[in-house]
Amino acid sequence: MRAQVKPVRTVVILTMVVGLIATVALPAYAAWRPTAEAKTLQQMAADDAQSLVVASDVTAVQLDRSSYSATTAEEIEKKKAAEAAAERARQIAARVTTTTSSSTPFSTPVDLTMTAPGSGEVRWPLSGFTKGRGLGDSGYHQGVDLLAPGGTPLFAAAAGVVRVSQESFGGYGVAVTIDHVIDGQRVSTLYGHMTYGSRQVVSGQTVEAGQIIGLVGSTGSSTANHLHFEVHINNAVVDPWAWLEQNAS
Ligand SMILES: [Zn+2]
Repeated sequence: MRAQVKPVRTVVILTMVVGLIATVALPAYAAWRPTAEAKTLQQMAADDAQSLVVASDVTAVQLDRSSYSATTAEEIEKKKAAEAAAERARQIAARVTTTTSSSTPFSTPVDLTMTAPGSGEVRWPLSGFTKGRGLGDSGYHQGVDLLAPGGTPLFAAAAGVVRVSQESFGGYGVAVTIDHVIDGQRVSTLYGHMTYGSRQVVSGQTVEAGQIIGLVGSTGSSTANHLHFEVHINNAVVDPWAWLEQNAS
């Protein structure tokens, strides 16, 4: 039995690797592709029946469009989506490289089993940050910005249940929210602007205090790597910096 099972697994793995390489190669192909060759979506639909590579063509058209100056909200959204796809492809490429070669593009691979320092019921959501904008600083701001390099691990501030875990959560970009009960109060924490593809939790999942949930990034309405962190108690926004200083240990 073993001898029969193994070749099948090898074929599956090879197919996956080929698939990944095809995905990774796509953005470069799309960028290289002459604009004159770009088709309209109507032409694409017409070709759909005959062509098996139509999915690649659609992506190429979208990327071509995104290279022009984006002005409407729809175009900006498309550009973000294209960037997200490219970022996911890069991360997949990095993962493939990590498993097939000793030289990895990541100088410091992230240990996904690590937990936040400390032992309290409430933990700091990351370590080694610089405090940025706080609650209400310079206009509408419902949270605190904690600046740290992209790829810095983010931790659940307390035990709870993941409510939101999305690659695109409005202006928050890649974001996670967690519902907790702390001292009899309903507390929700929000973690925004995480790195594409870095989420380690899914909606409905139970997490421990300090469990890794993702990595710092700059997705959504963000111009630099940082964690945007919010705390809501009984559905009211509270100052997350004061809350952390008071409770985290
Ligand atoms: Zn913020």
